[in-house]
Amino acid sequence: MSLPPLREVIARHGLSASKALGQNFLFDEQLLDRIAAIPGDLQDRAVLEVGPGPGGLTRALLRAGARVTAIEMDRRCLPALAELGDAFPGQLTVIKGDALKVSPAELFGDEPYDVVANLPYNVGTALFVGWLSGEAWPPQWRSLTLMFQLEVAERIVAKEGSGAYGRLAVLAQWRSEAKLAMKVHRSAFTPPPKVMSAIVHVTPATMPEGVSARVLERVTEAAFGQRRKMLRQSLKCVPGAVEALEELGIDPQRRAETLSVTEFVSIARALTR
Ligand code: SAM
Repeated sequence: MSLPPLREVIARHGLSASKALGQNFLFDEQLLDRIAAIPGDLQDRAVLEVGPGPGGLTRALLRAGARVTAIEMDRRCLPALAELGDAFPGQLTVIKGDALKVSPAELFGDEPYDVVANLPYNVGTALFVGWLSGEAWPPQWRSLTLMFQLEVAERIVAKEGSGAYGRLAVLAQWRSEAKLAMKVHRSAFTPPPKVMSAIVHVTPATMPEGVSARVLERVTEAAFGQRRKMLRQSLKCVPGAVEALEELGIDPQRRAETLSVTEFVSIARALTR
């Protein structure tokens, strides 16, 4: 199917990039096809795209055969997205709104879906934390394919012992697999952002038994809230946590960033009991 070049779509609909909405558009269709391929075969799969903008990534997802539900806040983009919907009949639903306020359960019912998004940094992180939180697991989403600033992507996939390792890494790894799927140079965007970007791909894994997500979050919040302090100090505010360290044979003189995700899980399990 031949679609007009994205730059032409932007010019025709007057879609100058808005800084306030964090708009940095991708125009390279080969790159967009590569991004749309990260979740695997999308033929006839339900996909939630957040922030389609003028629809570059959306067209790549539609070309891959996905049934896309896209949430976009900027009403200026709606006519361009409507044209795209006409080119792929029955495959695209566009919702005008703030993704932070829309519940995917209302959009998809019980159907599993893959999430793909190139979002402003703060919105992306807030949604990411929401998708990974809560007691219910596995989640309704099958995978998350999300663009972040490179520095944030590195924090998500970081391993213990590195400066980037913290709450985000534990949250993303304790019951999911998180991979850095692709680095994206700043020059790929129009306008180019100040920093490099990267795409993180996350899939759900088995949730460890006997662990409350809320307790794990409480422990990591306390431990990394004072990451330079020894655990016996930083975990004082969590009742029973210092005793749990001793019970588990974890040296209370260690610091949060030396603890593996598995060790955080075992502390949370001891406190969940
Ligand atoms: N997906 C397009 C691309 O890759 O070229 C646009 C990416 S641009 C970085 C981010 C898009 O997210 C913009 O179109 C912006 O209007 C939209 N956006 C920003 N905040 C949003 C929110 N809270 N909910 C939905 N869309 C949002």
